[in-house]
Amino acid sequence: MEHVDATGPRVVVIGAGVVGAALADELSARGWTDVTVVDQGPVPATGGSSSHAPGLVFQINGSKTMTQMARYTVEKLGSLDLDGEPCFLQVGGLEVATTPERLAELHRRHGWATSWGVESRLLTPAECADLFPLLDPGAVLGGLHIPTDGIAKAVRAVEAQLRRARSRGVRVLERREVLDIRVEDGRVAAVVTGQGEIAAEVIPADVVVCCAGIWGPKVAAMAGLPLPLTPLAHQLAWTGSVPDLKGHTEEATLPILRHQDADLYYRQRFDGVGIGSYGHRPMPVRPEDLLPVDEAEVMPSVLAFTPGDFEDAWAETRRLLPGTRAAEIGEGINGVFSFTQDHMPLLGESPDVKGFWVAEAVWVTHSAGVGRAMAEWLVDGHCSSFDLHECDVNRFEPHQLAPDYVLARGCRNFVEVYDIIHPLQPMEEPRPLRLSPFHARQRELDAYFLEAAGWERPQWYGANARLLEGGDVPSPGDWAARHWSPIVGAEARASRETVALYDMTALKRLEVTGPGALAFLQRLTTGQMDKSVGSVTYCLLLDVDGGIRSDVTVARLGRDTFQVGANGNLDLDWLHRHLPEDGSVVVRDITAGTCCLGVWGPRARDLVQPLTGADFSNEGFRYFRAKKAYVGAVPVTALRLSYIGELGWELYTTADLGAKLWDTLWEAGQEHGVIAGGRGAFASLRLEKGYRSFGTDMTFEHDPYEAGLGFAVRMDKGDFVGRAALERRGANVRRRLTCLTIDDPADVVMGREPVFDGDTGVGYVTSAAFGYTIGKGIAYAWLPAALATPGRTLEIGYFDRRVPAVVAEEPLFDPAMERLRGTGEAR
Ligand SMILES: Cc1cc2nc3c(=O)[nH]c(=O)nc-3n(C[C@H](O)[C@H](O)[C@H](O)COP(=O)(O)OP(=O)(O)OC[C@H]3O[C@@H](n4cnc5c(N)ncnc54)[C@H](O)[C@@H]3O)c2cc1C
Repeated sequence: MEHVDATGPRVVVIGAGVVGAALADELSARGWTDVTVVDQGPVPATGGSSSHAPGLVFQINGSKTMTQMARYTVEKLGSLDLDGEPCFLQVGGLEVATTPERLAELHRRHGWATSWGVESRLLTPAECADLFPLLDPGAVLGGLHIPTDGIAKAVRAVEAQLRRARSRGVRVLERREVLDIRVEDGRVAAVVTGQGEIAAEVIPADVVVCCAGIWGPKVAAMAGLPLPLTPLAHQLAWTGSVPDLKGHTEEATLPILRHQDADLYYRQRFDGVGIGSYGHRPMPVRPEDLLPVDEAEVMPSVLAFTPGDFEDAWAETRRLLPGTRAAEIGEGINGVFSFTQDHMPLLGESPDVKGFWVAEAVWVTHSAGVGRAMAEWLVDGHCSSFDLHECDVNRFEPHQLAPDYVLARGCRNFVEVYDIIHPLQPMEEPRPLRLSPFHARQRELDAYFLEAAGWERPQWYGANARLLEGGDVPSPGDWAARHWSPIVGAEARASRETVALYDMTALKRLEVTGPGALAFLQRLTTGQMDKSVGSVTYCLLLDVDGGIRSDVTVARLGRDTFQVGANGNLDLDWLHRHLPEDGSVVVRDITAGTCCLGVWGPRARDLVQPLTGADFSNEGFRYFRAKKAYVGAVPVTALRLSYIGELGWELYTTADLGAKLWDTLWEAGQEHGVIAGGRGAFASLRLEKGYRSFGTDMTFEHDPYEAGLGFAVRMDKGDFVGRAALERRGANVRRRLTCLTIDDPADVVMGREPVFDGDTGVGYVTSAAFGYTIGKGIAYAWLPAALATPGRTLEIGYFDRRVPAVVAEEPLFDPAMERLRGTGEAR
C-alpha cells in the first residue's frame, strides 16, 4: 500500500549526480520531503559523469523541449551559488563554421533559437575573433553567438541543490551501492543498499527514481526494465598554460566554443583550454565493466586517456586556435557518458513495475529542466512545463530495445553527434529491419525507401517517372530537394486524378477488446464511442491537463471489439496504464501481424467494388464507416476514410495476405490507372487537406482548440480524461495552429523555422510541403491567435532568407468535403 502523508510518498533517488540532485531539490520544493538520495560514491564528487563534466551549456537544439530544458538549467543554475561561488558562468556560446554547409546550418540553428525564444546572433569571422581572441578569423566563415549560454559548475550545482534539499528534510546517503530493488505485486517496495563494511540496508520505498547515469541499465535491470542506453567514452583534454591567456584570474571569461565541422568543443579554464572531441572511434563501455568506486584509478566514469585518438583533434585545435600552438596538452581523460538511439533522454515510469521511474541519458545542459519535469510528473501526475513525448522511456518499438540495436545506434549517434542531419535523413544502419508484406512489390517499382519506426517506407517510386511526362513539377531549393524527386509531385497529382495505393503499415494499430472496452474507450478518448458497430470515430487522447497525447481513429468492429489507429508506442503504453484492474479489457498491438493499404483517389470505387461482393457504394458504405469484406480472396477490414482527402478506403488484412491484397488491387487497377504512392506525396496531400500529424503539428503542450481539433471533442458525452481541464481552459485560445501559404514554389520550408511579423519572431513552423495540386507551398505554424487571420502577411525565416507567407483559410483543398463524402464528382 502506498504510503502518502504531508511529506509525500517515500521516494528513493538512486544517484547523486547532477540529475539526482536536481530532482531531490525539485521534489522537496514541491513538498515531497520523505526522499532519500543514495549514491555509491562520495557526494558531491561521486565518480559519475557529472564529476568530471566540463559543463558546457549550449542551449540551442532542434527540439523545442530540449531547448526549454536547457533554458531552465541556465536560469536555475544562474541563480544558485555555493557559499558565494557561482554554479553557472554566463560566458556565452559561440559556434563556428569552417564550411559553407556548416554556415548554412548555423543559419538554421539561428532559426531554431528564434523559434524557441532564445536570443542569438550571426557573426562575421572578425566578430568571432573579437569574442574569442585565440581564434584565427581566417579559419572560419562565420559564427553563431548565444549570449546566455555558459558553463555549469556541475559538482557545485550538485552540492548546492542537495544542500537545499537537505534543508527541507531530504536524506543523502553516500557510499551506499544499490544492490537490489524489491518489487511486490508489481510495485516497487524497497531498495537494498550496502557497500564494503557497511551492512546491507533495506530502504522502504513507494517511488524509486533511477538517476544512475551510465550505470542506468544495470540498475534498471534490477527492476526488470531494459534501458536502451549506451555508455561511450569521449575524450576531454586540458592544455597547460596558453601564453595569450596568461594572467587570467577568473575561471572563464571567453565564450564556450564549438567547432562542429571537426567534432570539437572548447572552454577556458583560467589560462588553459579544455578540448572535447567526438572525432575519434566510438568506444562503448558495458555498464557491468565499470569499476567500483574504490578500485577505479581516477573515478569509475574516467578511463585512461588514449593519446593516439586525440592526435587529429590537437592538430585541428592548433590550426583553429593558433594561440594554443605554444601550449602542451597537460592532462586528458576518456570520460564516459550516456548515448541513446535518438539523442533524447529516457524519462518516465516502467511499464511493468509501478513506482519505478528513470531519468537517464541527461546532459548537464538539461539536468535542471529534467529535474523539474520529473518532479512535476511525479507530484502532479503530469508534466506541465515541458512536452515530454520525445523523452518518454516508453516510446520505443520492441526491436529498439534489442541490445545489438541499442549498441549500434548508440555508437552511430556518437559519430553523428555534431553532423548536419537533414529532417528526412534515415538512419543508415541497422537497416532494413521491418518489412511490410508489400516490400517486394515496392522494390520492383523501384521505391526510394526512408525509414519510420524501423519500417522501410517508400518516399516515392522510381517506376512513376513516366508520370512526369507532360507535367511540370516545380523544384524546391537545395535543402528541401534532398530525399526528394519530382516524382513526388507526379504521384500527388495522380492520386487526385485516378487512384493510388499507399502503404500505411507503419502506423500503429491496436485492438481493444472485452466487455469493458466501450467504457474504457469512452473514458480515454474525446469521441463518442457508443455508436453502432461499423462506426469510425476520429478523436483524441488527452492528458489530465487537457493537452493532446495523441490523435486516434477508432473503428467499432464488434460490440466489444475496437480497432485503434494510433501514432506510436506511447499510445499503447497510455492505454495499458489505464486498463481497469478487473481484466475486462485487453489491449493488443496488432501492427506487426497486420498490414494496411490506403486505396485512395476518385477511381477508388471503380477499382475496389468489382473485386468484392460487399456493397462499397456511396450509400452502402458511407464515409467514416467500417466493414469486413473480401477483396478477391483476401479478407479485409475496410475503413472508409482517407488521410489524403480523397474517396477511398484503408484496407487491413493479416501480414500473410498482404502481398495477395497488393497483387489483387494492382492487377485490377491497371485499367483505372492505379499507381503506388509514396510518403512524399502523402505528406503534401495531407497538408493540402489540413490534416494534423501528432508529434509534429501538435504535442502534449497543445489543447484541441488551439490545434484546430475542437470538432473531435464531444463534451456532451459524459466524463473523460482531460474533460475537466478543457472546461477550465475554454475554447478561447491565445495561440493557434495556422495554415500559411507560400507563393514561390522554390521556397519549400521543412519545419521548425521561425515565423516573423516584421522583425518580431511570433511563432514557428510545424509541418511544411509543396501542395502540388493547389500550386502553392504550405506551412502550418503556431502563431498568436491575434495574427492567425486569413490574408495576413508574415515571413518565414529560412536559412539566411525571409520567405513571404500568407495566412490562409483552411483546408486548402476540398473544404466542402465533396471528395471524401462522395457528394461531388467522385461518386
Ligand atoms: C568527458 C565528458 C564531457 C562532458 N561534457 C559535457 C558538457 O560539456 N555539457 C554537458 O551538458 N554534458 C557533458 N557531459 C555529459 C554529462 O556529464 C552527463 O550527461 C551528466 O553528468 C549525467 O549526469 P547524471 O546525474 O545522469 O549521471 P552521473 O553524474 O553519472 O550520476 C549518476 C550517479 O549514480 C550513482 N550510481 C550508479 N549506480 C549506483 C548504484 N548501484 N548505487 C548507488 N549509486 C549509483 C553514481 O555513483 C553516480 O554518482 C560530458 C560527459 C563527459 C564524460
